[in-house]
Amino acid sequence: MAGPVVLAGGTGGAKLARGMLDVVGAELTVIANTADDIEIYGAYVSPDPDLVTFWLADRIDERGWGLRDDTFAVMDGLREIGVDVWFALGDRDLAIGIERARRLAEGARLTEALAELGSALGVAARVLPMTDEPVRTWVQVGTRWVAFQEFMIRGDAASAIRDTQLRGVDSALPTVEVLEAIAAASAIVIGPSNPVISIGPILGVPRLREALLDSPAPIVAVSPIVGGEVLKGPTAAFMRWAGYDASTASIAACYDGLLDGLVADEPVDAGVPVLRTDTLMTDADSRRRVARETLRFAEGLAA
Ligand code: GDP
Repeated sequence: MAGPVVLAGGTGGAKLARGMLDVVGAELTVIANTADDIEIYGAYVSPDPDLVTFWLADRIDERGWGLRDDTFAVMDGLREIGVDVWFALGDRDLAIGIERARRLAEGARLTEALAELGSALGVAARVLPMTDEPVRTWVQVGTRWVAFQEFMIRGDAASAIRDTQLRGVDSALPTVEVLEAIAAASAIVIGPSNPVISIGPILGVPRLREALLDSPAPIVAVSPIVGGEVLKGPTAAFMRWAGYDASTASIAACYDGLLDGLVADEPVDAGVPVLRTDTLMTDADSRRRVARETLRFAEGLAA
């Protein structure tokens, strides 16, 4: 049997994955959301898998995205010649995206391109995209449909969400790597990420949900609700759109039928066993502790 599999969006899932890396090392596999991917400036940017990879490589910048100590000369240069730089990328981040676009254009799978980035940055664990096919989140604001990154960055995020679409998901397939990792997992951990737009797309890939249920591994989620609140990002807005309030009980409801256990910082009737512990991950110690306790909890459920 292989190690644990973590399903992750951005920051919350990435921090948990970093804790897991300390606990289980190279046995860790992360399956990351690719519905936020964007092609821009000739680069293929994969925000969630990259964020996870930068966290695992201890290269994440304090601003919460991108590489530490990166420079922004290309963005400055683009601005100078009149380009509307609404999506900022550091120079090294851009280099990663340009090389990835080249690899994809020559026929490499996204899975391979991400593996190459992982080895280049010295990451021992595997970061897998949920699928190699293009799946993109679109958001309807008023009468307008906007791609996810535009929604997040161009100020639309404050507006009411009328609808969302996962374009391309019906023709997507989980990769062999994803299916094998899930089948052989010792535990499957849904990271504390946005359940609607970060974990939702992963679970939406045809056959992936079935693969999770078919796996003998216990499935546990770590709630992204901390102290009764969402720590960052539009989790609450998207949960509201999906018909839920932003509460730990609603996290359990979002994953109804999938979970064997839930990790949360408050008592909740989730219909499955709950491990109650402090789930705030502010430093290496707390990330390791949440990872270790979650894995122990999952092991207990499997026994
Ligand atoms: P984003 O793509 O960067 O917005 O990140 P995610 O999709 O991972 O979702 C952000 C969610 O992560 C928010 O709901 C946060 O409450 C949650 N989150 C961030 N840091 C932590 C943490 O330390 N512990 C827990 N339990 N949740 C966290």
